[in-house]
Amino acid sequence: MTNKTSSIMVVDGSEVSRTIIARILRNEMDNTMITTCGCGEEALAFLAAEHYDLVTTALMLPDMDGLDLTRSIRRSVTHHYTPIVVVSGDADNRLLREGFEAGVTDYFDKSLGYQSFVDFVKSFCRRNSGLVGRILYVEDSRTAAMITTNIMEKHGLMITHTTSAEGALEIIRQSLKPGVPNEERIDIVMTDFYLKGRLTGGDLLHAIRTRLHLSQQEMPVLVVTVTDSNERQAEVFHAGANDFVTKPIVEEVLIARIRSLLLIKQQFYALRFQAEEMRRIASTDSLTGVRSKRYLLDNGEALIRNNQNQPVWAILMDIDHFKGINDNLGHITGDHVLAALGELLNNSFPKECMVVRFGGEEFAVIAPNTSIKNINQLAENLRINVESLKPMNVKTTISIGMASTGDHANADLTTLLSYADKALYAAKQRGRNRVCIYAPDGVSYSPAINPRVETGTGR
Ligand code: GH3
Ligand code: MG
Ligand code: MG
Ligand code: MG
Repeated sequence: MTNKTSSIMVVDGSEVSRTIIARILRNEMDNTMITTCGCGEEALAFLAAEHYDLVTTALMLPDMDGLDLTRSIRRSVTHHYTPIVVVSGDADNRLLREGFEAGVTDYFDKSLGYQSFVDFVKSFCRRNSGLVGRILYVEDSRTAAMITTNIMEKHGLMITHTTSAEGALEIIRQSLKPGVPNEERIDIVMTDFYLKGRLTGGDLLHAIRTRLHLSQQEMPVLVVTVTDSNERQAEVFHAGANDFVTKPIVEEVLIARIRSLLLIKQQFYALRFQAEEMRRIASTDSLTGVRSKRYLLDNGEALIRNNQNQPVWAILMDIDHFKGINDNLGHITGDHVLAALGELLNNSFPKECMVVRFGGEEFAVIAPNTSIKNINQLAENLRINVESLKPMNVKTTISIGMASTGDHANADLTTLLSYADKALYAAKQRGRNRVCIYAPDGVSYSPAINPRVETGTGR
């Protein structure tokens, strides 16, 4: 969302290629920052932290496919519009078939040599030096709308035009819904102050700020007025506008105003992305990739209270004889086993379930709205899958204890977990590598799904 290419990322697994490309680009392009990355993960980390105007990537990277990198960039909040050029050995069939769908902007045949590649990037930047963003343009005069839309589109902007404030509010509401593709989201609103409908541009502004609760950073608004009298300026800013332009519209002025509002919006996206990333990191256990205990303590109770017609289950599981794994094979191997188990757990439960590292080699799952038949099946499948997982070639088994709000209607999170822990203790006592349930009468029993559960032999 900036006007001129100033920061280019070059992603290539070969250090030689990276160095040569970066050197020629630096020599031949003024005011350009070049960042080189050797793999996709590194590129994504840089993209999360900094703004880039163009990304070039090899089709094959050491850790991922160039097209997968492209898809990740298109999904990102900060760089979904950034042009991406794929550099490949030849006009690769797969690139032609899938590349543009993945979001590739253009591709370059690297057999043409480094100098041609740099020439290609230079001409690409000249062609793509426009603004990027979607403007919701509210103007009731169709003639005025057509002229101004042409100007904005010439600069690369995408325009959604509507003639009324009512229509505009509906478009904004739709655009805020989750799942709307990034390129269809409204970045800024530009509205005529006078509109013929029931609501004026001032009313629209007021509704955006007070009814939709969108701040000046979240939804910048540019107002078009016929006069720039002090009274009108005061009125426009009082209503919550970020800025205004006067009619007749002067192209340079309009574009400069829009550029600065797009910059505000881009900074808003970047901040929001960082905040979400921080939240995700704080709620995730770094070794195993499942939720942290903190997350369970903050959100588990609500999940239990929110039970529908089926019970909520607390499941506790503990790796059998894990100390032996550490003692015999080392702590690092132990860590690998924990990481592999975390990944398996994340993939073993429906997404409504909360999968948590409860401590050390213990995991907890809160599974809402699940019948006893389904939970028995889930737990038993998990037990079997862990048995055949053999992470780092280490035979690993788990014992599982479960308790439900179906059996213990008024139990809170702590109580339900303590019941699951009693069942887990029973599973250990009976020989490990099995599932036990803590029943209403306080007796733990093994559900009879698979005869092996009843007669399990442990390790
Ligand atoms: P049981 O079948 O009765 O559960 O036996 P166990 O050996 O698994 O149980 P115990 O509680 O004696 O040992 C748990 C071990 O888990 C001890 C601790 O050092 C280890 N552990 C806890 N957290 C980690 C970790 O993050 N990484 C590694 N490698 N080991 C851990
Ligand atoms: Mg008007
Ligand atoms: Mg333990
Ligand atoms: Mg253990």
